[in-house]
Amino acid sequence: MPLHNTAELKAGPTSEIEAEVLNDKTSTYEFPAAMQDPQTVYQTIHDQLILDGNSQQNLATFCTTWMEPEVRQLMDESADKNMIDKDEYPQTAAIEERCVHMLADLWNSPEAAGTIGCSTTGSSEAAMLGALALKWNWRKRQHAKGKSTETPNLIMGPVQVCWHKFCRYFDVEIREVPMEGDRLLLTPEEVIKRCDENTIGVVVTLGVTFTLQFEPVHGISIALDKLQSETELDIPIHVDGASGAFLAPFSQPELLWDFRIPRVKSINASGHKFGLAPLGVGWALWREKHDLPEELIFDVNYLGGNMPTFALNFSRPGGEIICQYYNFMRLGKEGYREIQTECYALGRYLAEKIAEFGPFKIIYDGQGGIPGLCWKLKDPASSSFTLYEFADRLRERGWLVPAYSMPPNREDLVIQRILVRHGFTRTMALQLLGEIQGALNHFAERQPEQPSAPTPVGAGSSSHDHSGR
Ligand SMILES: *Cc1c(COP(=O)(O)O)cnc(C)c1O
Repeated sequence: MPLHNTAELKAGPTSEIEAEVLNDKTSTYEFPAAMQDPQTVYQTIHDQLILDGNSQQNLATFCTTWMEPEVRQLMDESADKNMIDKDEYPQTAAIEERCVHMLADLWNSPEAAGTIGCSTTGSSEAAMLGALALKWNWRKRQHAKGKSTETPNLIMGPVQVCWHKFCRYFDVEIREVPMEGDRLLLTPEEVIKRCDENTIGVVVTLGVTFTLQFEPVHGISIALDKLQSETELDIPIHVDGASGAFLAPFSQPELLWDFRIPRVKSINASGHKFGLAPLGVGWALWREKHDLPEELIFDVNYLGGNMPTFALNFSRPGGEIICQYYNFMRLGKEGYREIQTECYALGRYLAEKIAEFGPFKIIYDGQGGIPGLCWKLKDPASSSFTLYEFADRLRERGWLVPAYSMPPNREDLVIQRILVRHGFTRTMALQLLGEIQGALNHFAERQPEQPSAPTPVGAGSSSHDHSGR
């Protein structure tokens, strides 16, 4: 983490061992002067990577950790393909284009074959493109009315960090609806309270990072329709479907969240989450072609041929897109549904079993949102352990089950979460339950007169990253 290094160096070592570790670390920061034998270097790096965690036991991440051998083969075959170079790699470009329209079809765009969209590095980039389009469209509306374009705002609930980044990087006021009591999601009422003529849009999350639940896209849209009939404010919705846009179409086809709702103008999704593609691909799509302002599209001709681009990045690997296409062809709706049915069932099973242990209260039981579950301590004040300690204990056995505090105004609420992804099996679930029992036994044996030191909110554990990796 380069951002931390200066502080670390300034603080100085406190023991001999620390001094040696620091010395070794900084010596590896020097750029090598000489060449080395490839086998030696390969082996050195390979050995270093062994100390990384085992991705199969990482129940914190939303991202793909299991791949078919054919996917690895295609990744290997496409290592030299730059997706931006559409003239040199027209087949890769055609595959990207097909994926865009297949997704437009899946998400019920009224003009699925003609609408516009693109691949990105992930949902973060896709979200920023969606929000930039909202900002440009709002500016046009304001100009047409002769009104100010100084103070745009964007309304959202408990969002992933990419939305905080968007608002700061692109100078938009963030109107983040805080959690209150048991309300851990965005609601129509809370949205309507915050709308004004400077609202560029509302971000509704299908699969909230913190609790895995879906926010009510349809309900929010109905409330915005009513607002429009009363005030003429016509506020568009962007759906952050990082996880949900690859879940709801297969597992809850009747749920209204997508382009069937006219107010939903754009959607982002992570191909590398429940799209099951390898890391490094996301998607941004607009309901109809005119929903993306033309001014945001650049034409470049210096790679040969003329090509429109709308992206924050330029060069990018093509393999992830090719493998996304592989998954669409290989699985179809049937395959995605089958995999997800299995994941949802395991999530519900774990929720039942974890509730039976006693000390935990299930907050999300694996139904209706993302496959997985989350829970809190029934009675944190009288518990002999904190969820941070509990997470650390499971970590000792290789299981990454993060504990973290909620965002404002529920920073007091600490929860623990499990994501169930493709590749997580019933056998693994049983092993995990065994470890949970073991950890509970361990804490039960602790002296009751030595209660654990309270861990301050947001500190103390290595597994606090809840930013939706
Ligand atoms: C993961 C996630 C993101 C960020 O997506 P990346 O693909 O990691 O860039 C944004 N929003 C939500 C709701 C997410 O779950």
